[in-house]
Amino acid sequence: MAVIGFIGLGNMGLPMAANLVKAGHEVLGFDAVPDVLQHAKDAKIITCAAAKDAADEAEIVVTMLPNGEIVNAVLDEILPVMDPGTLLIDCSTIDVQSAKTLHARAAEAGIMSIDCPVSGGIAGAAAGTLTFMIGGSEEACKKAEPVLDVMGARQVRCGDGGAGQAAKICNNMLLATTMIGVGEAFSLGKKLGLEAEALYDVMSTSSGSCWSINTYCPVPGVGPQSPADNDFKPGFATSLMIKDTTLAQTAAAECGQATPMGYNALELYKQFLADEPADLDFSGIITWLENAERG
Ligand code: NAD
Repeated sequence: MAVIGFIGLGNMGLPMAANLVKAGHEVLGFDAVPDVLQHAKDAKIITCAAAKDAADEAEIVVTMLPNGEIVNAVLDEILPVMDPGTLLIDCSTIDVQSAKTLHARAAEAGIMSIDCPVSGGIAGAAAGTLTFMIGGSEEACKKAEPVLDVMGARQVRCGDGGAGQAAKICNNMLLATTMIGVGEAFSLGKKLGLEAEALYDVMSTSSGSCWSINTYCPVPGVGPQSPADNDFKPGFATSLMIKDTTLAQTAAAECGQATPMGYNALELYKQFLADEPADLDFSGIITWLENAERG
């Protein structure tokens, strides 16, 4: 069993760290918000007064933070106290450039690193069924494997440093566009007098089928249980979808790749969110599409 530092004990980080404790690891945790530390204590995480205290004695440090700027600031604190040969696992969703900077800074300090964003949401974090998309050396991935096994069900090494974040934003940009397409198809079908159930039966088994229909159908009472059946309570908050599609647009601009569907999807989610609470599930955009003016 390992001594693991865990920095960022929010909606995702706390249940992930709690699963490490349940598996018998000694987890030293830090979060910038004192209330969060109380929840961490309840989960038998040893709480620390600063990020560097959580990293000092750790063989492995996991970070689960809001953005690249914050991850970089936390590195300023923890890299000087981490021993050479230890491993840094950044599970946050951050921009590809910040992820590459993280790897360069860790390598300079003799520390192994992987960028390791997740899919599966808060429910997956609690159940230990997350999917990890990983960028980093094979050696670092091997060292991370037993710890990731505790927190998730699937690990995919996507390539060298930054590849995990790249895969995450490509996947979520695709999801953003398919959900809008599905919302448009159901909205048009409704105007044309189709029953949603009949349209679902066709689309879920035809060439238009995709995860946004088959698993996460945005029409209440149609298909498997989804946030649509719970007034679009997340699920996956629209604010997070906007975060991820913005990261995709930043990366596309940096490498000069046209992504017109991704660009338009981001603009539509922003318009949708202007009228709705930020934590509404992203699939709720169907309600906005149904009422949108035809331009
Ligand atoms: P969150 O806001 O609930 O948690 C982030 C935590 O980081 C907060 O508790 C905050 O206090 C803490 N924090 C901020 N700055 C800090 C600092 N300098 N030092 C220590 N702690 C600090 O967010 P979350 O939902 O847990 O998401 C975490 C990451 O996971 C994000 O990058 C997000 O994009 C990604 N993600 C979230 C989901 C989801 O469904 N929530 C799904 C996949 C990926």
